[in-house]
Amino acid sequence: MPRPIQATIHIESLRHNLARMRASAPDARVWAIVKANAYGHGIERVFEGLRAADGFALLDLQEAERVRALGWRGPILLLEGVFEARDLELCSRLSLWHTVHCQEQIDMLALHKTHAPHRVYLKMNSGMNRLGFAPHRFRAAWARLAALPQVDEVTLMTHFADADTEGGIARQLAVFDEATHDLPGERSLANSAAVLRYGHDTAVRADWIRPGIAVYGSAPDHPAHDSAHWDLQPAMTLSSRIIGVQQLAAGDTVGYGSTFTAQGPMRAGIVACGYADGYPRHCATGTPVLVDGQRTRTLGRVSMDMIAIDLSPVAGAGMGSEVTLWGRAATGAVLGIDEVAQAAGTVGYELMCAVTTRVPVQAQAQDEPTV
Ligand SMILES: *Cc1c(COP(=O)(O)O)cnc(C)c1O
Repeated sequence: MPRPIQATIHIESLRHNLARMRASAPDARVWAIVKANAYGHGIERVFEGLRAADGFALLDLQEAERVRALGWRGPILLLEGVFEARDLELCSRLSLWHTVHCQEQIDMLALHKTHAPHRVYLKMNSGMNRLGFAPHRFRAAWARLAALPQVDEVTLMTHFADADTEGGIARQLAVFDEATHDLPGERSLANSAAVLRYGHDTAVRADWIRPGIAVYGSAPDHPAHDSAHWDLQPAMTLSSRIIGVQQLAAGDTVGYGSTFTAQGPMRAGIVACGYADGYPRHCATGTPVLVDGQRTRTLGRVSMDMIAIDLSPVAGAGMGSEVTLWGRAATGAVLGIDEVAQAAGTVGYELMCAVTTRVPVQAQAQDEPTV
């Protein structure tokens, strides 16, 4: 028998979450963001669940090739655009839409020979100061692009820094509107948090929304809201089994550094999952975990291949019991990835992207019947 750890990708949940995002912005088209190998879920595995999207957005040219290889003929957007001039040849060949965020990318495009003009997303730096043209240079960039025979339609784009927090989007939205109000073309502004929190505003949902994390079932603004609040379902379950049980007495300690000490008699289950599987080592005693669908906690430090958990609340659990590190248990009980991320001082995004290659991944077309 292989080591019992397993990641499961829930196709129905992806479908549900995508429909949920579409319902939040009914008049907008939807880019399903599948960068970073679909946030660690695997582009090929999520494709079936996300094919109702209007397009797929990503960063790596190889990932764009993989989406085309799946038979997708619709739009594909490169969110960082091209990295060197010859990337434009692939854009032409695969008819990729691409972001233009700097003068150098316009220079490359001006020298590019193509039969069919390209669809371009012109990116404004409206305050995040990562990629994009400053607001006062945006119009000149637009005019230069619009005059190029290599360019078809130009969509106006920006990205919010604080859509998921108290900071909000008002300042960036005002900067974007001020600099673009009389420019023609479609607009795209909203990531998951902006769609969920501000999608009631037509100026925010605009023509194309760009949800990523919500499609995978994590709440972008956790802990202010959890995934259940936003009606999102986990797209990934990380599960394993108990491979050892220890009977502890008062004073016994668990794991490296002996950071947990039993206060009285208790049972500890040893789970086949560690940081070499992508479970965060920063999770201290008390991180939530499900055993046979019931909630309990981790004990002591996470080691490379194992974690100890408290079996006190689950008397029936023992060797071979199902453990859900995050996602959905066989009982249907859910442990949100965001809760585990919070215990590790990080976000759901990082955990989903960090599951390592030694973990076998299986796509599940139908949800298991709940018991
Ligand atoms: C990753 C990304 C998104 C998606 O963000 P989420 O927070 O995952 O919804 C949207 N737009 C751009 C430009 C991105 O890079």
